[in-house]
Amino acid sequence: MTATMPESDVLVVGKGNAALCAALAARDEGARVTVLEAATEDESGGNSHFAGGVMRFAYSCVDDLKRVTELTDEEIATSDFGTNSRDEYFDDLFRLTSFRTDPALSELLVTRSLDVMAWLRGKGVRFVPNYGRQSALVDGKRKFFGRMPIEVSGGGAGLVQALDRATAKAGIAVHYATRAVSLVCDGERVAGVRAKHDGRLATFPARAVVLACGGFEANPEWRARYLGPGWELAKVRGSRFNVGDGLRMALEIGAAPYGNWSGCHATGWDRYAPEFGDRTVGDQFQKHSYIFGLLINADGKRFVDEGLDFHSFTYAKYGGEVLKQPGQFAWQVFDAKAKPLLRPEYRMKQMTKVTADSLEALAPQLEGVNPETFLATVRAFNDAVMTEVPFQHAVKDGRGTRGLEPPKSNWAERLDTPPFEAYATTCGITFTFGGVRIDPTSGQVVDVIQQPILGLYAAGEMVGGLFYFNYPSGTGLVSGAVFGRLAGASAGIAARGN
Ligand SMILES: Cc1cc2nc3c(=O)[nH]c(=O)nc-3n(C[C@H](O)[C@H](O)[C@H](O)COP(=O)(O)OP(=O)(O)OC[C@H]3O[C@@H](n4cnc5c(N)ncnc54)[C@H](O)[C@@H]3O)c2cc1C
Repeated sequence: MTATMPESDVLVVGKGNAALCAALAARDEGARVTVLEAATEDESGGNSHFAGGVMRFAYSCVDDLKRVTELTDEEIATSDFGTNSRDEYFDDLFRLTSFRTDPALSELLVTRSLDVMAWLRGKGVRFVPNYGRQSALVDGKRKFFGRMPIEVSGGGAGLVQALDRATAKAGIAVHYATRAVSLVCDGERVAGVRAKHDGRLATFPARAVVLACGGFEANPEWRARYLGPGWELAKVRGSRFNVGDGLRMALEIGAAPYGNWSGCHATGWDRYAPEFGDRTVGDQFQKHSYIFGLLINADGKRFVDEGLDFHSFTYAKYGGEVLKQPGQFAWQVFDAKAKPLLRPEYRMKQMTKVTADSLEALAPQLEGVNPETFLATVRAFNDAVMTEVPFQHAVKDGRGTRGLEPPKSNWAERLDTPPFEAYATTCGITFTFGGVRIDPTSGQVVDVIQQPILGLYAAGEMVGGLFYFNYPSGTGLVSGAVFGRLAGASAGIAARGN
């Protein structure tokens, strides 16, 4: 027999960033809110827990940043925070998605991004300048690059912790190890969720349901089905619980699929990392400093322009390029000049790394790589570097290669200074881009003929239409917060009005 739980005004499925923002926003509207989370408390928090914690929002001056974080006069005097004006944010989103991002959704994301950061701060989330990973000293000033100077203190784990505290304070009940399996409809509207706890089914009635339970990145069969052959072989960078449940449940009742269903965010990731994210390691299996080195495949060849742009604008699509290579791996190769520029993740213990005092000694250590071709590739690269252009690591320096295919457009440095280092990477999938279609004014899910599905809302990775082909770093958490807050507030108002 299926147990029936007490009715909530708003039932939120998932307990990552988007879900917690939805739960808090619904509570702010006076709704009685219940959260269902598939994971146990120890494994909860979704991909949000694994996130590095960089946040991309629109700001045009230091006063905007001061709405989000405390900055001392000295910090302001000694830093160049740059800007990420609304226009710059739009330009990045449009350029990276090949002008496919949904105009209404991206408008909402960009124009509400600063406000949502201030709102999160008000909920107890602490933000700090990202000195460690997004800045460099230039002429005595700390210069931030990539238009993203702020991160959440404690990374994604810190964000989830702060939102958990706010949720508990707001009196929101959370049911752990409770996996939603289907939606309950009363003929006119969505009226709750059926969920499994301890092998038993229970019905959770609700006046409105917010689905914020991730994409299908942790489901190898769906990856092969929608992203294409070979994607079942990717490692999962984050949560093992995002298997497409929310998408399946919504599609089953007629929700409109939307966005880039064959696209995803995927990066270089340690070749021998475990199948799913490891909470003790977090995002540190990533290797984002490839812009200062070479990417080499099994044939000993380069296959992308490593220096096309700052990693923030290429890393999310280069994982897919690694997946396409023979054996689905690539070595990142650096010389001693690059070493001081490598990000902190190159200094952790759990990684696959080799070193040597000469390229000839390094070549046979690159497991799976043709050593002769590798040496020829490095020679050709070294000969092609525009040595007359000065190397400047904190700006796109235009120090590229001449007559090389593929080119390296910036930060091209000859590999000539021992010791040499190489790191083995494969493809790590972060999240999938395809989702359901929402009404951008309310976050309500619409059906295939674009009529609202009463009582059903979606947020976070489940929202389709924002990202196509590529993604600017730091957008996932901010979009989760913007659309989570929108869906939660709308669901709260609708539920209270019923
Ligand atoms: C390693 C890594 C680093 C990242 N770094 C950054 C970064 O620095 N900045 C940034 O902006 N983004 C980053 N991201 C992306 C970002 O984490 C995601 O875009 C964002 O967290 C998605 O939030 P969400 O709430 O939609 O999903 P999630 O946080 O994944 O939450 C989904 C939740 O739903 C639960 N769930 C799944 N199925 C069910 C079900 N059937 N019933 C109940 N619950 C269910 C899951 O357990 C989970 O708690 C990173 C991601 C990873 C993996």
